[in-house]
Amino acid sequence: MSTDFHGYGKVKADLCALKNRKVNAQRTLTHRLHSPGTPTFYFSLFTFYWGTMRVPPFTPVKFDLLKVGHCAHPECIAMRGGGWGSIEFPALVGLIEHPREGLILYDTGYSRHFFEATRRPPECLYRMVTPVRLTPEEELLGQLESRGIAASDIGLIVISHFHADHIAGLRDFPTARFFATRAEHAANEKRSRVARVRRAYLRQLLPVDFEARSSWVENGATVPAPWPGFRAGFDLLGDGSIVGIDLPGHTASQLGLAFRTEVLGDVFLVGDACWKIEGLEQNRPPAQLAYSLFANGEEYDATFAALRELAMSEAGPVLIPSHCATTWAKLGGTRHIDHA
Ligand SMILES: [Zn+2]
Repeated sequence: MSTDFHGYGKVKADLCALKNRKVNAQRTLTHRLHSPGTPTFYFSLFTFYWGTMRVPPFTPVKFDLLKVGHCAHPECIAMRGGGWGSIEFPALVGLIEHPREGLILYDTGYSRHFFEATRRPPECLYRMVTPVRLTPEEELLGQLESRGIAASDIGLIVISHFHADHIAGLRDFPTARFFATRAEHAANEKRSRVARVRRAYLRQLLPVDFEARSSWVENGATVPAPWPGFRAGFDLLGDGSIVGIDLPGHTASQLGLAFRTEVLGDVFLVGDACWKIEGLEQNRPPAQLAYSLFANGEEYDATFAALRELAMSEAGPVLIPSHCATTWAKLGGTRHIDHA
């Protein structure tokens, strides 16, 4: 008994034949166009090799975490349910060594320039609200020097965002280039002097030639973000080895940094998108009071949620918030980069 109701088998066979004819015609056309000697052939050859060269090799880099001063705040501001007692928030700095590009910093932490910039009103209000301590041993230039690294050896500084605790040392690196987001810089420049202090931005910490030495990541090449939940990444060095990722909310935009190291595997420096790693692990975002200082609370929550997914994932990267004492205790103090 035939199961071919309503001639379905013939229609299917006709459709198959039609499809095969179309595929064969396309193959013939492609073959003719791409035959050796035709312009299309050489163009295809060029695009193939260009594409091959552009495949990110994910070159592993060396990485050390440095502590450059700290400030003090009640724990409950950084993480809901925390105590009212004041705890230390280290200012962490990433030191990266790329095999081709050399030495790179992620932020600079505090410096003596911070204390000079906050001597007079209205800037002194910043220091009153956020007591800062920087011992001589913690000064960034001295720490680098102890590793045999001069300020002029730092070729590139990636700025997560422009809060004073991240940019206070920029003026100590007169030959470095800067990578930052234009969106964050532009938002700060529009503000009045008092509004800047309120937003923890001290313009006098920027070198006078800051813009001339800066590259805005929005103008560069983009690559897919390495993890779901984030916008496209910025391919900072053009080889896929160091990817900037926008982490908006805390400020207008914030540049996280993703890369691979041989020791830790994948690493994701997340700036101030989360203040304590326990906050991500236990799903405890900052206190509501802190949101009054954020550029956009909803965007902060979205960024926080995406980071929490990563924190919960077995295969996720090592997440490094810029002010997390737990992370510092676990990962700080290594000397993978030592030229002394
Ligand atoms: Zn900060």
